[in-house]
Amino acid sequence: APVLEARDVTKEYRGGDGAVLRILDGVSLSVRRGEMVAIVGASGAGKSTLLHVLGALERPTRGDVWLAGRSIAGRDDETLAALRNHAVGFVFQFHHLLREFSALENVMMPLRIAGHTPQEAEGRAADLLERVGLGGRLHHRPAALSGGEQQRAAVARALAADPAVLLADEPSGNLDHANAERLHDLFAALARDMELGMVVVTHNRSLAQRADRALLLEDARLVDADMREGVA
Ligand code: ADP
Ligand code: ADP
Repeated sequence: APVLEARDVTKEYRGGDGAVLRILDGVSLSVRRGEMVAIVGASGAGKSTLLHVLGALERPTRGDVWLAGRSIAGRDDETLAALRNHAVGFVFQFHHLLREFSALENVMMPLRIAGHTPQEAEGRAADLLERVGLGGRLHHRPAALSGGEQQRAAVARALAADPAVLLADEPSGNLDHANAERLHDLFAALARDMELGMVVVTHNRSLAQRADRALLLEDARLVDADMREGVA
């Protein structure tokens, strides 16, 4: 069974003049464990909106999303938050690490909040940082890390709660090309090794090629992206 599924999702906003803006129109998507899917599309195409609906940060206007086998339709806010906390990790364009804490402490924090002992939290956080290539940077604060390292620390933090699904919204938007490629290769390796369902939004088609599948969001619909054009 897919670990993440959207069926016939429509998302509409009401504009200032009362007109309906249809951002997503009957979008369906299915992601298996171990699979990395890239979503490409122009700025304003609705990629962030789609990612927010996939991660239950926003409700679809119509249609439904299944996260780790559970439907989000008709759930109250508290149930959705619990589902997010247990099933989904998010990575954004900006890392949102806490500046006064080390990489290790940043990754430990969600584990401590979830009730793990300091020893358990530290062990798991150190493992995760090792896995993203920051084993030698455990005690660095965010300002002492490079941009690529900051994003990898944010990835480790997103994985702390052991989510089934990892969603990343332009995670390499602030990185140079070499670091962006490394980050996308890390995502592909994490999806495979940790059996995650992984969805990465990018406007960069050459980065999207590093995923198992690339889909294009255009005119509110999701279609197979022809990566042979390969132009960023
Ligand atoms: P992308 O991530 O592809 O750049 P977004 O999902 O951020 O696109 O935005 C898609 C469209 O939806 C934009 O036109 C944006 O202005 C509109 N939009 C996003 N959120 C809202 C909202 N809360 N209310 C009204 N319009 C919104
Ligand atoms: P919590 O339940 O722990 O308060 P949420 O489940 O609401 O957190 O959100 C998950 C993550 O997504 C958090 O890191 C939060 O800061 C971030 N987040 C929540 N809403 C948005 C949004 N609309 N845009 C970007 N990030 C968001």
